[in-house]
Amino acid sequence: ADAKKVALITGANKGIGLETARQLGKLDVTILVGARDLAKGEAAVAELKKDGVDARAIKIDVDNPADYAAVAKTIEKDFGRLDILINNAGIMIDNRKGNETSTTSPEMLRKTFDTNFFAVVGLTQALLPLLRKSEAGRIVNLSSILGSLTLHATPGSFIYDAKTFAYDTSKVALNSFTVHLAHELKGTKIKVNSAHPGWVKTDMGGEGAQLEIEDGAKTSVELATLPEDGPTGGYFHMGKALPW
Ligand code: NDP
Repeated sequence: ADAKKVALITGANKGIGLETARQLGKLDVTILVGARDLAKGEAAVAELKKDGVDARAIKIDVDNPADYAAVAKTIEKDFGRLDILINNAGIMIDNRKGNETSTTSPEMLRKTFDTNFFAVVGLTQALLPLLRKSEAGRIVNLSSILGSLTLHATPGSFIYDAKTFAYDTSKVALNSFTVHLAHELKGTKIKVNSAHPGWVKTDMGGEGAQLEIEDGAKTSVELATLPEDGPTGGYFHMGKALPW
């Protein structure tokens, strides 16, 4: 059997996903670069190959459930299993200024939940049969510290006054998926964890963010390569557990 691990990263054409592909690829993992725009995926693959990464692009729009079965079929045919799934694609469409919970539209809530929550559940369900065939299946859900209900409710916390209601609640729901699925998969070789990458300089994080992209990918890479005695059903940033 091919010992080289296979990882699928959604939204890997730029930002944290692309850097995660680079760092994981340097650990001798075959990277499937998920991109909703295949041309952007191919451009990312060309860049990764210059760094010696074994990468190939795979078209996946996480908002299109028809893509899930197609992706599963392709991976089944080419590899027969999946070792690592990084649910990295995500959106933040809350207005940055003047956004209030009381005026958040149902459309904004639904759109955000479609991409950040329902898509992760649907894609993960479609790929679970392939992850079960791995010797060490790892699922990483890109959450955010904004998904910590505890910190939202803690006076003095820097996210106490966060106004991105749609985004934040989508990540709360995503964290719940992590916990529920990890419980179901106890006793299997699959581990499921939520990652907070940090506040990272990407198109989403903006130029004022604290972390460079290289550091922003570290939590994802660590959770994707956890040893057998590592945690499951947790919520981490750089190796430290966060409060739910
Ligand atoms: P970017 O906006 O830089 O990149 C987002 C990626 O997701 C892009 O590749 C984008 O593709 C893709 N994507 C969005 N919607 C879809 C879709 N429907 N189907 C397929 N791909 C899609 O974001 P980051 O790299 O900063 O964020 C990555 C993850 O980390 C997200 O889940 C985010 O919530 C989380 N995060 C980021 C933080 C930060 O400070 N940056 C902080 C906390 C969490 P395209 O290029 O086609 O738009």
